[in-house]
Amino acid sequence: MPDGRLVPRPIPSREATASFSVPSEQAQILKYAIGNTDPGEFHAKLHAAVANLHHTDQAKLLEVLQKAGLVLHNARTAVHDGELRHCVRCHQNYLERDNGLFACRLTHGAPRAVVSKTGEHVGNEYVCCKKRWAVNVPLPMYCFSRHSTRPEFAFDDGIERSCAQGGCGPRG
Ligand SMILES: [Zn+2]
Ligand SMILES: [Zn+2]
Ligand SMILES: [Zn+2]
Repeated sequence: MPDGRLVPRPIPSREATASFSVPSEQAQILKYAIGNTDPGEFHAKLHAAVANLHHTDQAKLLEVLQKAGLVLHNARTAVHDGELRHCVRCHQNYLERDNGLFACRLTHGAPRAVVSKTGEHVGNEYVCCKKRWAVNVPLPMYCFSRHSTRPEFAFDDGIERSCAQGGCGPRG
């Protein structure tokens, strides 16, 4: 703008902003179903489906999930990885193909009270994983995570998890 005046931006017409096609009924059904399913339940259903589907349907699901952007590179590598690893967290040996968000189970360390600025006891937090629960919620006993060989996971606040302490030798 050589003369410094503000040129009003053209207001896009409704025709220009509207998508060229109305979402299909299938798309609307999928959108609604996914948008109204608890993520944990959705995840559990997919898990169960993999175990129960016929292998031709498993192949279809794999294809669809790949198209949906699920990164399968690591999964393909893990499936063919036969190296037995030692977890620095739970001190069990594992194969990467058996690893997962809930594969590694430990008993949480001691909880600590979370106190508000006004001194009110509002919740409880585990020092091991920093997970918090409201004061009226019963605390879960187990701390789930992935198995790991990374040393930074061997020492969480409040829990000593080295192999020396675990009695499984000098590894880790
Ligand atoms: Zn924990
Ligand atoms: Zn583990
Ligand atoms: Zn160990």
